[in-house]
Amino acid sequence: MSAAPSIDVERLLEGLNPPQREAVTHEGGPLLILAGAGSGKTRVLTHRIAWLVGTGRVQPNEILAITFTNKAAAEMRERVELLVGRRTRAMWVMTFHAACARMLRVEAPRLGYTRQFTIYDQADSRRLVKRSIDELGIDPKRFTPAAIQHQISDAKNKLRDADAYGQMVGSFFEQTVADVYRLYESELHRMNAMDFDDLLFRSVNVLELFPEVRERYTTAFRHILVDEYQDTNHAQYRWLQLLTGEERNLMVVGDDSQAIFGFRGADITNILDFEEEFPDALTVKLEQNYRSTQTILSAANAVISNNRGRKNKNLWTDLGQGDPIHVRELDDEHAEARFVAREIERIVDEGASRAEIAVFYRTNAQSRVLEDTLVRANLAYQVIGGTKFYERAEVKDAVAYLTLLLNPQDVVAFTRVANSPRRGIGATSLGRVTGFANTMGIPVFDAAADPEEVPGLGAAAVKAFTRFMGTMRVLRERAETGPPVAELLEEVLRETGYLEALEAERTIEAQGRIENLAELVEVAREYDGTAESPTLGEFLQQIALIADADTRVDDEGLITLMTLHNAKGLEFPIVFMIGCEEGVFPHSRALDEGGLEEERRLAYVGITRAERDLYMTYARTRNVFGARTYGARSRFVDEVPVDLTDREEQRLAPGMRPRATVWDDGDIDAARMSPVAYSLGDDVKHAAFGIGKVIAVEPGGIVVLHFRDHGDRKFVADLAPLERVS
Ligand code: ATP
Ligand code: MG
Repeated sequence: MSAAPSIDVERLLEGLNPPQREAVTHEGGPLLILAGAGSGKTRVLTHRIAWLVGTGRVQPNEILAITFTNKAAAEMRERVELLVGRRTRAMWVMTFHAACARMLRVEAPRLGYTRQFTIYDQADSRRLVKRSIDELGIDPKRFTPAAIQHQISDAKNKLRDADAYGQMVGSFFEQTVADVYRLYESELHRMNAMDFDDLLFRSVNVLELFPEVRERYTTAFRHILVDEYQDTNHAQYRWLQLLTGEERNLMVVGDDSQAIFGFRGADITNILDFEEEFPDALTVKLEQNYRSTQTILSAANAVISNNRGRKNKNLWTDLGQGDPIHVRELDDEHAEARFVAREIERIVDEGASRAEIAVFYRTNAQSRVLEDTLVRANLAYQVIGGTKFYERAEVKDAVAYLTLLLNPQDVVAFTRVANSPRRGIGATSLGRVTGFANTMGIPVFDAAADPEEVPGLGAAAVKAFTRFMGTMRVLRERAETGPPVAELLEEVLRETGYLEALEAERTIEAQGRIENLAELVEVAREYDGTAESPTLGEFLQQIALIADADTRVDDEGLITLMTLHNAKGLEFPIVFMIGCEEGVFPHSRALDEGGLEEERRLAYVGITRAERDLYMTYARTRNVFGARTYGARSRFVDEVPVDLTDREEQRLAPGMRPRATVWDDGDIDAARMSPVAYSLGDDVKHAAFGIGKVIAVEPGGIVVLHFRDHGDRKFVADLAPLERVS
């Protein structure tokens, strides 16, 4: 290994204030930082890693640093890398799930899995829950798979297995959950698969059941550092407890005002009780905020002060007052999206980079309208946490093929691809084969490879299976030689006839699918090129973990779109919080007392991401699940003191559509007038198509123009380069 350049410890400490420095240079033993947003908690954590390594107190591979989202983990890794360079590679800087998965790739055989176990994402797991429900003959309308899945997940987060759960049931619903839980568990195990919650649960199992394993890891990880500790659940708490060695070098940082995962079983008392658990812990308070203007900070403080039961923190900043918070009311979600796009264009024109801008929303579904608008406005963006790409059917098919090559026991993967593309394997024959595999206790792959043995299979089905499995066997042999993943994937797509079937379709949709598959090959190629020693197993694991939250590469110049939950720990100069309406945010499901406080903490998280400019927008009407709804302005907007805001609300004379926006003081700003109103028959000049005539005006600010040479075309009036000619 080449000698890494030494770390300048003096300089490392220069960029820290006294309490931060105290935490960074803490000799050892438990350490707690409980402090408000933007006060440098993550900075302290990363600098501490650098300090420990730079002063030779630990080796890089003795560091375990944990955070919650993939995005935050990537960012943490980047920050550490800036300080210590390539040494970062030897460290475990990752999410809980990734660390557990990595551990289980080694230890899972102790629990009866193979190392190649499959990781089921939410959707896979839901499907398996549904199958279990069906198998038990439970009415899925009475108890939905989603509800049961949630209960099972909740139990797992509390480290309750099916037996433990079964012993505590009270209601009929819980009894049903217990039955499904038991079957679901044995099915998972039979398929050599784990769901997301299992990653933690099984890791805890291994550490508890095998003292020698625990010993090995506690010795290996001499320092454990956890960011966003306020959001740990019981399983994560227990996992950390098991990994903390005799030296008790456990550092946790967090902010009780930012606890936003209660609905997933996070337990805020984990951080509040830390001092009780470790009476000798060093506790450090940080009070200076280095991120936001005073206006943004005051707004955040005002909003969160409406919550009871939180530790008091006095945040201050010397970054000055800054601009007021921009509060805007818009007609509907389309107008809201257009406002955001226009505003972004203006900001970018003034010299900001798109990468400095983020848009947050409460639920993933809110991104689509915005995405459409940004695409039309030619504004490049990325969606963090949208599982979209990996959720597409063709991508899932391809992944299932690869999974099956690695884990021939995986019935879900097998069922998914057996007849995709169509090859004459019907649901009944498929059921016979999986049933037979089940009865005989053999991998489904083996059962299908020998279809003559399966009772009740017709001659055509036998033939179809024989041909299919012939291909699969060749591919499996090929996979075992360890080719680059990208190559293997291309062969799979070709040999199984998958691509051919799409090409034969000759539809736009199929074309899109082919492009997505090409993109997946590209993902594999990138993986092959960057992984230290690429394997199919690791590639699939990465994809499974991306499912929860992920990105299409963090290029410069991309606007970032994400849910508020995914925004945790991040910061952006300019932030838009859209959909600030009662029922949307706070979410209608969370309007009871506890839920509301968690929503308010989410608002606090959102507001405190902003460094310089914060926008809060709301629409007077919005389409929610196909129904037009009329929401009131969010209480969180009202909780921001008026004198910190500049507000733009629409005052309408009865029966009039808004034409111009009116400030509270009555000023009219010509530059921000709403779209010019077009009437039928107007002559309009388009920058590219020339002069056309308005032949229709549609809701949502759409005009339809007729051009002599270009026919009829639709435009969004206030985005398109249009000009009225008299
Ligand atoms: P959050 O609660 O949102 O996770 P945090 O407490 O982790 O916030 P950081 O992200 O570590 O805060 O820091 C916020 C910003 O302030 C970062 O850009 C960081 O680099 C900067 N910062 C923190 N401390 C200092 C300091 N002493 N000098 C200069 N900049 C600092
Ligand atoms: Mg942080």
